[in-house]
Amino acid sequence: MTKKSKNELLQKKIFLDKKTSWHDLNQKEVFKFAEGYKNFMKESKTERLCVENILKVLKKAGFKDISQAKEAKTGDKLYKSVRGKAVFAAIVGKNKEQWQLIGSHVDSPRLDLKPHPVYEDSGFGLMKTHYYGGVKKYHWVNTPLALHGVAFTKAGKQIKISIGDKENEPKFIIPDLLPHLAKNQMERKANKIVEGEELNILVGHLPVKDEKIKEQVKFTVLKYLNEKYGLIEEDFAIAELELVPASNPMDIGFDSALIAAYGQDDKVCVYTSLMALLETKTPNNTAIGMFVDKEEIGSMGDTGAASFVLQNFAYDYVSTCGLKLDVSRLFENSNAVSADVTAGMNPNYKDVHDPSNASYLGKGVSVEKYGGGGGKYSTHDAHAEYMQYIRGLLDKNKISWQTGELGKIDLGGGGTIAMFLSRYGMNCLDAGPSILGMHSPCEVTSKADVYSAYLFYKAFFKN
Ligand code: MN
Ligand code: MN
Repeated sequence: MTKKSKNELLQKKIFLDKKTSWHDLNQKEVFKFAEGYKNFMKESKTERLCVENILKVLKKAGFKDISQAKEAKTGDKLYKSVRGKAVFAAIVGKNKEQWQLIGSHVDSPRLDLKPHPVYEDSGFGLMKTHYYGGVKKYHWVNTPLALHGVAFTKAGKQIKISIGDKENEPKFIIPDLLPHLAKNQMERKANKIVEGEELNILVGHLPVKDEKIKEQVKFTVLKYLNEKYGLIEEDFAIAELELVPASNPMDIGFDSALIAAYGQDDKVCVYTSLMALLETKTPNNTAIGMFVDKEEIGSMGDTGAASFVLQNFAYDYVSTCGLKLDVSRLFENSNAVSADVTAGMNPNYKDVHDPSNASYLGKGVSVEKYGGGGGKYSTHDAHAEYMQYIRGLLDKNKISWQTGELGKIDLGGGGTIAMFLSRYGMNCLDAGPSILGMHSPCEVTSKADVYSAYLFYKAFFKN
């Protein structure tokens, strides 16, 4: 081997060279972790199911409902569920007056049923939907769907509905137009190829044999729902029913190094931060896992990060721990990570990225100073001091990481909960795996990045 020149050695020192993280990772560990993740994803497709599973995991690990706790000391584990759609979890640290908080979101883009969804047309029972979050609507046709959610009978009985995720269960589908007759459709602009009002799903086909009934298929559909759940047509106006892809998480590629699954934005961060929290033993500062809803529609609403739910939890925490500390002070003392995914370099659409400022699948957890769009609007732009603190943590723990921007300037943009966390005066930045096909029914991540995100969240909680 020839000896490296002085300049070559200097180049090695002063140039940035982000390599694949696969070479340095224990691949067996990475693949094992991915199996647990896929299992969690299979059962956590909606915000309610996800929260149910988070609570299951927390309770099993000894977390107690904060509303039942009279006091809390170092090492105690507490949780608070907000309407079954958001969760806060805490492990009380040696220093109770500072939080290390990781916040992720449990909701993903999907199709919700309209208040009056059921109708009959052309021999089919159908239901009308209203899409939730930023979707390319054409993704949702010809995609087998499962139905999940909660309804109430007029008498007030809560009904949980879950159909289509198990292999032997029927699914639902929105039939696309055949190419033979799609001449006009194909001339529409891409965002109108499938329009909102065309997202009507097939839910039945059997007519009741009774000439006196005009809508015979609608009759059978509503009769089924009435016999099985005690529901009547009006109950849909009260219900929260959501359609999500019926497919289960799967490995991708000959080497199985990638994962494709619905809802990885942002349940990949939910799972990795939850696992990191579980492995946190008596942290220095109190470790907080925050799992919120409604991010995909701007974090608005009483279970979203733009509401005061975090502040309410902070009041619960301060009083349970018996702290003589203003909640505002607690927030200003605290460090936060908005754990969310970002766009990875897509080899088919490279022109939307600035290659030297893009995140790449397989190069580790992506730590982002800011998101937003149009000149850094609608984001939190982390300060250099906090970025330096996080870099120190990553380097000390030898965690593979990268940084980037979502895409080229002025091509678009996207927000996270970082802007809502930072307004409390907490230190904050974004960090999570990069992803391909974000907001599609089948998003793709690298197992290496899923694992790197988990390692980072673990190091952050440990601090
Ligand atoms: Mn997200
Ligand atoms: Mn999203």
